[in-house]
Amino acid sequence: MESIAALVGAPVPVLWAEQRHGTTSFVYGQHAPLPVAAHCVGQCDAIITAEPHVALLVLTADCLPVALVGEEVVAIVHAGWRGLAADILGAVLRRIGNEFGVSPGQLTAILGVGVGPCHYPVGTEVREALAVHPVAWSDWSVDGAVDLSRWAAGRLLALGVPPGGVLRLAGCTACSDRYHSYRRDGAGAGRQWSAVVLTPR
Ligand SMILES: [Zn+2]
Repeated sequence: MESIAALVGAPVPVLWAEQRHGTTSFVYGQHAPLPVAAHCVGQCDAIITAEPHVALLVLTADCLPVALVGEEVVAIVHAGWRGLAADILGAVLRRIGNEFGVSPGQLTAILGVGVGPCHYPVGTEVREALAVHPVAWSDWSVDGAVDLSRWAAGRLLALGVPPGGVLRLAGCTACSDRYHSYRRDGAGAGRQWSAVVLTPR
């Protein structure tokens, strides 16, 4: 919370969700000023807003945190393989288009650090579930492992986010003790906090 305030320049309310590995999103529109505190928006895996100075938070420990950033709308997405296979990225981009009139081509996507292919051997059911969707490249799965970040980046490109607008942070949560990792640390694993805040120019 303190680090978000330091980045934004002032304390801001924080919205978080009970994440469920689904495709449900929540749109926050301001009805009354939010107290500067943490507010749970319910059960969902993405939060979208056009309101400035409200932090949208996602917690991860191997899943990918994905921020979608436009001039006047931002979103944060919790993206594990189940949510990605259910096409949460497509669902959120369609909602941003329908409700805010912002197309994928007007967005930048920032993919945070999740588990890397070095630590993500998966069963065929995972690869088959991901293979259902168009992705800009085919090398997201090699030798039975999946590169979730590469799949997600390729999916965003296939959905219309421009090539220069997909940024991926390098790393693997299970490889580096800089990060929390469910695969490495088990049920007691901590969580990375990733947030996006709209700050008008
Ligand atoms: Zn690794």
